[in-house]
Amino acid sequence: MKYLNKKNKKSRFVILVLICFLVSGTYLFSVNTVYGNEGENFPTNQNMRIGLVYDNGIVESFQASSADGFIFGYVNQNASDKFNVFFYLKNTKISVAHIANLTKNSAGRYYASSSNIAVGKYNIEFNKTFSDFAEAYNFIGTLNRDIFKNVFSAYIDGKIVVRYGSFTTADSARNNISSNSQNSPVGLNLAAESNKTTVVINPDTNDIIFQYEDGNNNFAAAAAPASGTNLIYGQSIKELSSKNTGFMTSSSNNLYSGAFVYRVNNVGVEVINLLSLEEYVKGIIPYEISPSWHEEALKAFSVAVRTYALKSMNRHASSGFMLCNDTHCQLFLGSRRATDYTNAAVDATKDLVITYNNELIEAVYHSSSGGVTENHNDAWGGDLRFPYLSSVKLPFEKYASPERNNGIWTRTVSPRELYDYLVGASPQSSRFKGKINSDISSIIINERSPSSNYIKSVSVIDKNGNSVTVRNSDTIRSTFGRYASSANLDIYRVSKFKSIALSPQLEDNNINNSRVSSQDIESGKTYIITGNGVTKSTPGDGVLNVLSATGMYSVRAYATGSDFIFDGKGWGHGVGLSQWAMQDLAELGYKYEEIVKTFYTGVTIESVTNVKK
Ligand SMILES: [Zn+2]
Repeated sequence: MKYLNKKNKKSRFVILVLICFLVSGTYLFSVNTVYGNEGENFPTNQNMRIGLVYDNGIVESFQASSADGFIFGYVNQNASDKFNVFFYLKNTKISVAHIANLTKNSAGRYYASSSNIAVGKYNIEFNKTFSDFAEAYNFIGTLNRDIFKNVFSAYIDGKIVVRYGSFTTADSARNNISSNSQNSPVGLNLAAESNKTTVVINPDTNDIIFQYEDGNNNFAAAAAPASGTNLIYGQSIKELSSKNTGFMTSSSNNLYSGAFVYRVNNVGVEVINLLSLEEYVKGIIPYEISPSWHEEALKAFSVAVRTYALKSMNRHASSGFMLCNDTHCQLFLGSRRATDYTNAAVDATKDLVITYNNELIEAVYHSSSGGVTENHNDAWGGDLRFPYLSSVKLPFEKYASPERNNGIWTRTVSPRELYDYLVGASPQSSRFKGKINSDISSIIINERSPSSNYIKSVSVIDKNGNSVTVRNSDTIRSTFGRYASSANLDIYRVSKFKSIALSPQLEDNNINNSRVSSQDIESGKTYIITGNGVTKSTPGDGVLNVLSATGMYSVRAYATGSDFIFDGKGWGHGVGLSQWAMQDLAELGYKYEEIVKTFYTGVTIESVTNVKK
C-alpha cells in the first residue's frame, strides 16, 4: 500500500499525504475540487470549513444554543465569501432538521416518524412575496394569531415568503385553508412539497421558526453579538467572528465560533463550521496538548497546526468542506478548552507557517518519539520525497519519565490471543485473514529503519508454518496496535524478557523511578536483584520482595510461559514533530522557531501571505 502518492507540482488536483497521528492509521484521498485559486498567495487568516456532522454521521436534527440569540443568513459556497444576513433572532436554542413528519425523543432530538408527530411536514403559504424580512415580519404582525398559529418566515429559492402551521397530511392542511381563507388578507396555498427544505424548530415549543431552501444548501446560523440588533446585510463571516462575544454550543456541548452551515438532504442534516483559520488553530491546540505547557511549545505547535490545516484543506473538498473534525484530519471539538494563555500563543504566531522550497510542508506530528523520529518513507513507504521529514535524534526527550503516558511500555500477549487479535480487531486484520490459521509461534524482525531503529519489516508465523510479512513502521505499529504504541519497539518471546524493580516499598509505594533495574532474565527462574546487580536466583515467579543494599524492592516478572512481550517507547508514527519533545525543548529554553526547525529539517518559517497556493 502506498501512503504518499507522487505529487505533481503543476496540478493542484493531486492530493496529498494524509497522515494521522496517535492511534489512527494513515489515509490516502484523492479529490478533484480545490479551495482557493492556484498561483495566488494565501490570504491572511483564511476562512476554514470544518465538517462537524457529515457522511455516515449525518443526523436528522441538530440542536444549538447561543446566549445572545442567533443571526440567520446564508453563505456562498466559496468560504471566502460573505455571510449574507437575513435577520437576528432572540431565541437562544434552535434545532435544525430536514423536512419530514418529525417526532421528538426524550433527548429532544427530532426524527422522521409515522406516529407521535411533533412537527408536521405540510405548511400553508400566504400568497405574497416580500422584499426583505422586515417587511415579512410587519405582515406577520398584522395577522390574527388566534387563527393563524405558528406563523414563520421562509426563504425559498431566493424569495421571502410567510408560512404557517405544520400539518401531518396534505388533507389536514387543505382543510385548514378552507376554514381560514376568508380571514386571510391574501390567498392561501399549500406550500410546495420538497425534501430539500431546512426546517428550524424551537425545541421548547415544537414551533417552526424558519424554513430555507435553495439549490446550494447554504443556510447558516451564527451566534449573535450581545448588541445583536444593529446588524447589516452582507456582513462577512470574519466581521461576525471578531464582533462576536458569544459562541454557539452544539448538542454535544462543544463551543464553536464562526457560523454553522447546514446542508439537508432527504435523510438528514450535515453541519459545517465556518470559521477563521486562527480561531480554528486556537480550538485545536488545547485538545491536542496540555493548555498549561510552556508558551514556546504552544507557539511551535500553533505554527505546525496552522501549516497542517492549510496543506490539508482540500482533503474533503468533494464533500463540501475542507477538514473533518476527527483525528483523520485534526481533532477539532471547538473552543471550550481555549484559554487566554493558549490563545496568546496563537496570536503571537499569527499567519506564520512552515515552508520548504517555498511550499507549505506536511507538518505531521505525533505524541512521543521515544528519543528518535522516523523517516517518512520508512514509516509509510515510497521514496524520501520530503527531506524535511527525516529521522532526527532527540536525546533530550524525557519519554521514560513516569508521568508520560505511553512514554515507555511493556505489554504481553499469549500466542492464541495474538492470533485472535491479528485476524480480528487489528486495524490490519485483512492482511492476516485467510493467511494464518493457528496460534502465533514466532515473530521475526527482518529489518529496522536505518536511522531510527524502528521495526520496518516483520514476519508473523503461526504454528502451522503460515507466514505474513508486514512492511513500513507505521503499518507495523497499526498491525500490533493493541500491544504496540509505536514501532520503536522490541518483541521478545519466553527466554528473554525484562524485569522491573519497583521503588523501595519503604518510600510509601512511590513508584517514581520504577525502572531502577532492567536486565535480561532467563525464563523459569526468579532473581534477586541487589544494589550491586543480580546475585542470586530462586525458584518461583510473580512478585518477589527483595532486601538489597538500598532497601526493600519488589521485583515483578512481566511475562510467563510462552507469552510474546512488546517492549517499546514512544507513542505514534514517530514522523515529524514529537509533542513531548517539543515541550522538553521549550523547558530547556529554546524558542519556538528553533523548536520547529529541530523536528523539520531545513525548513523556513514565514507569513502565509508570502506563500502561493
Ligand atoms: Zn479528515
